[in-house]
Parts: sequence; structure tokens; C-alpha cells
Amino acid sequence: MKKTMDKIVIENLEVFANHGVLEEENVLGQKFLVSAELEVSTRKAGISDALMLSVDYTKVCKIISSFMCEHTFHLLEAVAENLALVLFANFEALNGVKITIKKPWAPIRMHVDYVGVTIERRWHRAYVAIGSNMGDKLKYLEDAVKAVKEDVSCRIIKISDIILTEPYGPVEQDDFMNGCIMLDTLYTPSELLRFLQKLENDANRVRDVHWGPRTLDLDILLYDDLVISDDELIIPHPEMHKRAFVLEPLKQIAPNVVHPLLHQRIRDMI
Ligand code: ADP
Ligand code: MG
Repeated sequence: MKKTMDKIVIENLEVFANHGVLEEENVLGQKFLVSAELEVSTRKAGISDALMLSVDYTKVCKIISSFMCEHTFHLLEAVAENLALVLFANFEALNGVKITIKKPWAPIRMHVDYVGVTIERRWHRAYVAIGSNMGDKLKYLEDAVKAVKEDVSCRIIKISDIILTEPYGPVEQDDFMNGCIMLDTLYTPSELLRFLQKLENDANRVRDVHWGPRTLDLDILLYDDLVISDDELIIPHPEMHKRAFVLEPLKQIAPNVVHPLLHQRIRDMI
């Protein structure tokens, strides 16, 4: 995602809530101090002086406060993680967030100013190729898109048309339906892969023949400008630039995106 330097800052919002590993903490409650740096492009709001173009910090404080009071977690890590999800779900203009949660009264029988946790989360732009060549192909693709849409850690930005293509590779099999989606995700690349593999499994995909027929294939093509190669994941997808059935739908939704290794626009790669 585009990096913006503008930030809205909330420092040490006081909340009385019941998070903690000890049962006493869950019953008695204690003071928490929440700080947040909200990465928003403030330029439009700054020029027009209109609140609707930015993120309303009064609303942010109310959401933080009520979320923390209405839930009980053992770990500050879990409070912070879930708080980030809630903020992203409530504020579309939010690109990234840094959340710090402090416990000034942590029951550790020693004096500290506070103990706390800080996390940073942001939307990442990813492109995913979707394909099917078994059973009710269109339904498999539509169900996958629906599941991505419903996941709080993803938001779909664009979907290409679905194209019909002849099978590729050594195995005799039915025609494919292929498409591409542009999405923003809070997942790391390996979390995104696991999420997509779960959707493939939900579609009854059996991994027997390599390159063989499949109900659903979801491949990560690009993730920000990231270049990684490890045992489970290669990004950019190593075959994408050779496959018309990937490039054609990708070109439809992202013609000007540049491949981070080949330094070519998608429209010029075809
Ligand atoms: P293919 O998509 O090449 O036809 P599979 O869908 O069966 O084959 O994927 C095989 C393996 O490819 C997966 O287990 C996964 O770990 C690995 N893989 C590597 N890079 C990627 C990527 N960018 N997107 C999806 N899977 C990937
Ligand atoms: Mg695959």
C-alpha cells in the first residue's frame, strides 16, 4: 500500500477494563492507557477542513474504550490485535495503525511506570489469481471471492472478468476458468497463503496430481513490492509472467502495476 506519513495521534487514553492472565485482574479490573498513531492521508481533510475526509478521533476514542470494556482478554497482545481489526473495520481511510497498550498497575509486586505492548499493522496490496477446472467452476470461484470478502483481514478492491482458457501443462484435463482479484490485506504473506489454502481445502480440493485438475486454485501473484523465496512461498509468483491466463485478467484490473523483479508494467508483459 501507499505509505503516507500523516498521522493522527492519541496519547494515553484511560480505560478501566478487565484484561489479564490472573483471574483477579479479570474480576477487579484495572487502569489501561491506550495510545494510537493512526496513519491516514490527512491532506484532503487539511485542505478542505472537512471532518468526513479524515478519521474522527472522538469516535476512535469511543470505539477503543467500549471495545476494551466489553471484552476480556488474557494478553495485551490480544487486546491490541483485536483493537487494530476493529479500527480498520470502522475507518476506511485508515491505512495503518500503531497501538500501544500500557498497564500502569500491573500486579507484579515491583515498581514500574508501566508494562505494555506495541504493535503496528497496515493494509498491504495483494493480487491473487483464481482458477478452477472441475465441477461447478464458476460457483467455486464465486464462493472463494465471497469468503475473501467476508474475512475481516481482507478487503477486495477489484475483480477481473472470468475468462475461459485451455489447460496448460502435461496433464489431459478440462478447460479452466481464470480470473484475478486485487485486495488489501492485513495478513502477512504466509498468513495470506494459509488463508487461501484453507479456502482451497474448503472447496474439496485434493492435492494429488501436480498440475492436475482442481476445484479451486488460489495463487498469490504480488504482495506490495515484496520479493521473497522460501520453501512454501515465492513472490512474485514465479510463473505469472509466462501465463496469459494470469496476465490477461491481471491487466484488466492493474495494467500499470510494475513487476518488482522484471521492472515491467503488466500491460507490457503480455
Ligand atoms: P500450482 O498453483 O503451481 O498449480 P499448487 O496450487 O498445488 O500448484 O501449489 C503448490 C505449492 O506452491 C503450495 O503448497 C505453496 O506452498 C507453493 N507456492 C509457492 N509460491 C506460491 C504463491 N505465490 N502462491 C501460492 N502458492 C505458492
Ligand atoms: Mg496454487
